[in-house]
Amino acid sequence: MTHKVIIIGSGPAGLTSAIYTSRANLSPILFEGSAPGGPLMTTTEIENYPGFPESVDGPELISKMRKQAERFGTKIITKNIDRVDFSSKPFKLWSGEEEYQAESVIIATGTAPRKLGLESEVLFGAKGVSYCATCDGPLFKNKDLIVVGGGDSAMEEATFLTRFANSVTIINRTAEYKASKIMLKEAKEDPKIKWMENTEIKEFFGDNFLQGVKLFNNKTNKESELKIQGAFIAVGRIPGTKLFEGMLTLDKGYIVPKEGTEVKTEIEGVFIAGDVSDREYRQAVTAAGMGCKAALEAERYLRGGTRSSGY
Ligand code: NAP
Repeated sequence: MTHKVIIIGSGPAGLTSAIYTSRANLSPILFEGSAPGGPLMTTTEIENYPGFPESVDGPELISKMRKQAERFGTKIITKNIDRVDFSSKPFKLWSGEEEYQAESVIIATGTAPRKLGLESEVLFGAKGVSYCATCDGPLFKNKDLIVVGGGDSAMEEATFLTRFANSVTIINRTAEYKASKIMLKEAKEDPKIKWMENTEIKEFFGDNFLQGVKLFNNKTNKESELKIQGAFIAVGRIPGTKLFEGMLTLDKGYIVPKEGTEVKTEIEGVFIAGDVSDREYRQAVTAAGMGCKAALEAERYLRGGTRSSGY
């Protein structure tokens, strides 16, 4: 059976495209992968998603979008797509040995946390080193923690962790912060947060569990040690595009849209939405907007290029 639309990814981009394509009677199949919902599942308070004046929790927002997509007939499959072939039509996608065929595909695979790339980071994975404060923060009551990074994620993680921790030290490799002024200000005003600038992580150490970190100050060239029980890495994200290497044009891992378009790719019938191709805005609301555009373009493509009568 050839499906009209297959959507890969279940963040705001994938779910919004599911809402639109299912309302257009295209009976979309959505593969939500092994980490359904994407990074919003680990975001506590979203204060800037329109329609929620009192703010909304990430998991709650995703759950509402998911229900809305299912209400109009989206079939959600909790599996990863791990191979695709876009060289001929219908497009072919595989989850394990199972093959699926589709007339059009919307890629909304988002991004995953970037790692520091240290051996000791792997060694202490789930033994003190974490990439998700909302998932693991409550396990670190009254502990001394570090957050690595200087962007909004680092500020958000640190501010959240002070609810549980004794102290949180933000370790930034420069003295410049990528974080927005408002989030930096909130962190600066938190008495439990300490700051180390121009500082790099050399190694995590401990016994069965993390006990400390070796640091290097790149201004003074001095090494030091800090006793900690938990480290949260928040140094950006990597787009989920390995699957599409050699098939679509990538730039630093992000899918490059067809020239002059936002959600089309150079392969007719393959569309993109959300962080997987948006390195600039990366907001839930912009991802949802792209999901809507990708769905409308998919619908138009399936109609043979004509504009739909209404959405
Ligand atoms: P980001 O803005 O790209 O910041 C990444 C940070 O990690 C930078 O400080 C960077 O330092 C540092 N870094 C990168 N690689 C490193 C390494 N190997 N070792 C040490 N430090 C490293 O990423 P983000 O904070 O994840 O934010 C991503 C996007 O999501 C942004 O657009 C942000 O506004 C948005 N966001 C919004 C919210 C919110 O509104 N509630 C919350 C979180 C994120 P350099 O500056 O030296 O490169």
